[in-house]
Amino acid sequence: MLLLKSPEVVQETALRWKRESRIAFVPTMGCLHEGHLKLVAKARELAEKVIVSIFVNPLQFAPGEDFERYPRPFEEDQAALERMGVDSLFHPSVADLYPDGFSTRVAVGDLSRHFCGISRPGHFEGVVTVCLKLFQITQADFAVFGEKDFQQLQIIRKMTADLNLPLTVVAHPTVREEDGLAMSSRNRYLTPEERQNALALPEALKRMRAISRSHPDTSVADMVATAKTALEKAGLAIDYLAVASSRDLVPAVGSTPIGQVAEPRALAAVKIGKTRLIDNVRLGSLDE
Ligand code: AMP
Repeated sequence: MLLLKSPEVVQETALRWKRESRIAFVPTMGCLHEGHLKLVAKARELAEKVIVSIFVNPLQFAPGEDFERYPRPFEEDQAALERMGVDSLFHPSVADLYPDGFSTRVAVGDLSRHFCGISRPGHFEGVVTVCLKLFQITQADFAVFGEKDFQQLQIIRKMTADLNLPLTVVAHPTVREEDGLAMSSRNRYLTPEERQNALALPEALKRMRAISRSHPDTSVADMVATAKTALEKAGLAIDYLAVASSRDLVPAVGSTPIGQVAEPRALAAVKIGKTRLIDNVRLGSLDE
């Protein structure tokens, strides 16, 4: 596995590879878990060459968020990617990607008006800006993203379409721990007690999914209210919990029966102590 730090060298390497191979790319912030590795396995299936990046992107963290304390176990990550047969690990420094004077930003439209776009101002602008750079540097034919960050996935898809990027965005379903908690690098911040309480999040979402299937006439407001009560009972502070159409991420009107929302999805963010966790599930019938 080639360990590369310089954007120029990665781009030169990728341009050389592209003469004979396709490139699948997985952007990450490191502190890799099984969820990330499943994305890498997917990338392996898609193309002859796989590039993974590890970069904790300061542009997508607001002041007061966890940029400094974000875990960076680089050697372990490197060994895991080596075992996965990754062709190149791109690990730039902040100065490599944002040299003095860097000033361009990619603006995100309506998809960032809700949910994490409200709680984390500037977050998605930082995400799409770095992703556009990474796509250019790695010359990716495929970029693999997790549904765990569903709003991010839709925003990247939109940017790719709007800006005519010559790559295919491939989604991978959320990978969960055996007890249902979505895998996340931030789970390691949780104390044992918080880890236990965090289970209320996937359980509430799972329950919403069950209700949406068994009682599609239930109103969105009733479903959300029941789920909120369960989260509050477990001591979780709710940032948002809502139902939206997967297509445009506009929150559904409360009085609407869940069965009438197109491609309904429940999305939530909670705080447990200092740790912010997000999760989402598709509601309704699976074969829509
Ligand atoms: P991150 O390192 O958290 O920025 O995530 C890098 C990529 O891994 C993103 O596309 C995430 O959506 C994806 N990812 C993170 N956790 C999971 C998970 N539990 N299941 C599926 N994909 C995930």
